[in-house]
Amino acid sequence: MRITVLGSGTSNGVPVIGCDCRVCQSDDPRDRRTRPSIAIEAGETTIAVDTTPELRLQFLANGIRRLDAVVYTHEHADHIYGLDDVRVFSMRRGPLPVYGRARVLDTLRRAFAYIFSDALPRAGGGKPSLDLRVVDGPFEIQGVPFEPIVVWHGQLAIDAYRIGDFAYVTDVGRIDDASMDRLRGLDVLILDALREARHPTHFSLAEALATIEDLRPRRAFLTHICHEMKHGDFDGKLPAGVAFAYDGLRIEIDDPPIR
Ligand SMILES: [Zn+2]
Ligand SMILES: [Zn+2]
Ligand SMILES: [Zn+2]
Repeated sequence: MRITVLGSGTSNGVPVIGCDCRVCQSDDPRDRRTRPSIAIEAGETTIAVDTTPELRLQFLANGIRRLDAVVYTHEHADHIYGLDDVRVFSMRRGPLPVYGRARVLDTLRRAFAYIFSDALPRAGGGKPSLDLRVVDGPFEIQGVPFEPIVVWHGQLAIDAYRIGDFAYVTDVGRIDDASMDRLRGLDVLILDALREARHPTHFSLAEALATIEDLRPRRAFLTHICHEMKHGDFDGKLPAGVAFAYDGLRIEIDDPPIR
């Protein structure tokens, strides 16, 4: 199984429009962060977790040529507003399965009303064809097992996902004990770490590192990073096995047992 970090940035992306700070002006490519998403490739199956406004550019930049399903963590704008770009895949293969908790799917129906209404034709290139599937427990996509794990994004309950010994936990400010226990024994964890200062709905760097120390995955990568942290400032300064993710990072993981 191969994970590609399509985007490692927070909702504004980095650089932030019109910002002159040293991170936004950095020439280190690792400081250019598009909105947060990953692609999971297992055998012939490719799954996107979230659809950012940069989905098309992310797929092109990373050479991802097919898509079999989308899985949503939650409904915030930085995680959903590239959904229209999956049209190219539904044109080739038919309706694309889209997984999310009921509240997330309701938001998609409102935010993309033209996709779901015959009365609202899309001018131009047509509409994506989607097959919405409610997540209310573990599910499989072409044999790849997904375990949703509830985490808290401020007051909003959202879904992290565990796939075998890999877990993707973005947009998290608090993880309760029951969910922590389901995140133990990981090979690879990708975890939210917005910035060094605390934030009401996201882990700070210190909170993310404390969570990693508790969970003890073999490797951990930090994501959803804003323009207050310069990648190079942390080279060699993070605990062993922990690194900042960056756009285009590829991580190889043993395949989960196919059921
Ligand atoms: Zn900046
Ligand atoms: Zn969010
Ligand atoms: Zn976000």
